[in-house]
Amino acid sequence: MKRSVGIDMGGTWIRVALGTEDGVILKKITAPVDPLADNASILNQLETLIIEVSGDSLKEIKGIGIAAAGKLDIKRSTIIFSPHTSIRSLSVEPLHESLKKPLTFLNDGVAAALAELRLGAGRGHDNIVYVGIGTGIGGGIVVDGHLLIGKEGNAHEMGHMIIDAGGAIECDCGGRGHWEAYTSGSGLPRLSRLLAQSFVGRTPFLERSLRAKVEAREVFEYARKGDNFALSVVREATRLNAIAMANLVNLYDPSLISVGGGVAIKNVDFVVSPLQSYVERFSFNTPPKIVPSPLGEEAPLLGSVVSVFGLDFNI
Ligand SMILES: [Zn+2]
Repeated sequence: MKRSVGIDMGGTWIRVALGTEDGVILKKITAPVDPLADNASILNQLETLIIEVSGDSLKEIKGIGIAAAGKLDIKRSTIIFSPHTSIRSLSVEPLHESLKKPLTFLNDGVAAALAELRLGAGRGHDNIVYVGIGTGIGGGIVVDGHLLIGKEGNAHEMGHMIIDAGGAIECDCGGRGHWEAYTSGSGLPRLSRLLAQSFVGRTPFLERSLRAKVEAREVFEYARKGDNFALSVVREATRLNAIAMANLVNLYDPSLISVGGGVAIKNVDFVVSPLQSYVERFSFNTPPKIVPSPLGEEAPLLGSVVSVFGLDFNI
């Protein structure tokens, strides 16, 4: 079986795997993203991780697939800007030179959509939308069997779709009203703070939200305990997720939306399960089936592994 190395460069973690053409992961390493690292040290870290994960098989691997969060220029294999890290204008091309292996380079959401299509819930579908709700929100889209890429590889930066025309919350990218600023792992604390201003009543989670910056996982922890304010934050997040997904349904007419990313996968009952009926209410096009990604948090990593074995587009 042919092998490759895949890398998923997210906002919080770098995941690196040695995997096969049919998407079996043989070995995996996870390392934290150093938010203050400069480009040279990030490249060094990536090279070390690739060598470590591939061990004796480095010579035999077919190539290296990199899936990266942020705004990309895929023709120059460059991450222009990544809102949740210090990365600015990082070209991964030196890895090709130092390791003498072909590189494929994709947006992490696009890579996840590729994995979903070939290995996950998208098998047998020609039209799918993958939505990853993690530190930020990203995704990828397949229309008529083709993975959509865009002029620089940034088709479907859906996390920066404007879902609040009033722009009450500022996004890490500097824009206002962007989807991920409300319901992603980095957005939910801000949504909690915003809703806390007008919530009527007193609950432990409300007190906490007014006092300090909460974490996304606490929203779900308190909601699970029946905290009324936490439950209202979860309901509003669901409504906003459904608005964004209805927009995607109307644009791309998918037969399936698969939802992955850490926030969604760890809280399927709160984040994914309620979406179906909301999206049905909001969409003009016939609504698709909405499922949690069976690939879990590994979708972008698997996509980077299999991207080495061929894509249906040329860069
Ligand atoms: Zn944004």
